[in-house]
Amino acid sequence: MPSTKLPENAALKLDLMFEGIRYSNALGEAADGAFPNFYPYRFALGEPDPTGKGKAEIPYMLVTEDEVLSRVKGNGESPWIVDGDKYNGYRLCHDQIKFPAQAIRFTPIPAWMKKRTRDGTAMDQTGISLHTDMAVINVAPACQYFLAEKQNGKSMRCGFCAYGAPDARSEQLGQDIYQTSLPDLTYARMKETLAELVNSDEVRHIYLVGGSMADWAEEGQRFVELARQVQSVNQHKIPVTCGSGALPDRYIKQLHDENLVDAVCFNLEVWSEALFAKVCPGKHKFVGYKSWIAALEYAVKIFGKGRVYTAMVAGIELGPDYGLTYREALNQALRGAEDLISRGIIPIYSLFWPVAGHNLPAAYANLRDYFEQLNLGYAQIRSDYGMTIWDGFMCHCCAYMQLECDIDLHSTIEEH
Ligand code: SF4
Repeated sequence: MPSTKLPENAALKLDLMFEGIRYSNALGEAADGAFPNFYPYRFALGEPDPTGKGKAEIPYMLVTEDEVLSRVKGNGESPWIVDGDKYNGYRLCHDQIKFPAQAIRFTPIPAWMKKRTRDGTAMDQTGISLHTDMAVINVAPACQYFLAEKQNGKSMRCGFCAYGAPDARSEQLGQDIYQTSLPDLTYARMKETLAELVNSDEVRHIYLVGGSMADWAEEGQRFVELARQVQSVNQHKIPVTCGSGALPDRYIKQLHDENLVDAVCFNLEVWSEALFAKVCPGKHKFVGYKSWIAALEYAVKIFGKGRVYTAMVAGIELGPDYGLTYREALNQALRGAEDLISRGIIPIYSLFWPVAGHNLPAAYANLRDYFEQLNLGYAQIRSDYGMTIWDGFMCHCCAYMQLECDIDLHSTIEEH
């Protein structure tokens, strides 16, 4: 019988994801020394603004004593607020007395982020970013789908993607979008930064990503080269996942046989060929839905069960462009989860935030319910098939937009 209720840790995380936190002086002060939030706090019209500036720096991530990790999302209407100070510690409080205040900490800015490489490049500009204990290496962020010829006026990029556009980041990293191999200087800088991270004991997972290439064999070659460079520094101390697009079999085998990565994650994003063609037109045109799944299946043969993942954008299918009712979307997503799990492929559901315009309270409530129901149903599927998420791939300490690891952590504690 599937559980109808999330465990407490996952329920709190879900609440913070949707409700966010309203501003307090304590939250503003906590930004000093914390990993900086990409989005400053923006005061809503009429909201008390003690800074008088309309916006304020806030920390990026908070962690509770029960190890619930949450991104700090500013929201002037949230019932959650932070009090305390850096000497006595911070607390997460709720307007309703039934939620007792709990101690929290904010993820600090790591020392390496303020350092420079030998040639004077800021280490946080060398293609490595940190999601708490996961180092994400992205030295070639520009995605060829953004530049591919449009079809019926429609771009080939994935419908939800804003991060693959060729821009100042890819330029700064020296990426030529049409070249497979990356410049030696790009690798040298990345490796100098990575050496700091590997020696710091702050990182438990390394995740390789990058923009896609129209020729998936070229992308395979790029990721083999990248993984070799990473292992020349990492020396297998930290588990590495290849988060490329789907790759031809020979590159999957090479990544395994050369012992370059420990797991792969080829993001299918949505379940059903029709939805894939609409949401990910470039992936469908240049690789194809069936080839994508076949590559994941082949990876299971090569890497084994528990080492093959695919990220999904949970909730995008509720959008008005896709013509699915809430129930149809949920049933389809859960059918997909079971189909993938039965093949040894583990989907990971990241919450999709609707763009402004759909950003209405009713849409949020619907999405929240959907994400919760999807996670409850999927937890049951994982349990039925005896599949768990390998903690070398990710864990509850780095999964800030996903609930699977929090739910499984709770089940593991209960079983013992
Ligand atoms: S493959 Fe899709 S999600 Fe990935 S960078 Fe390109 S457009 Fe974005």
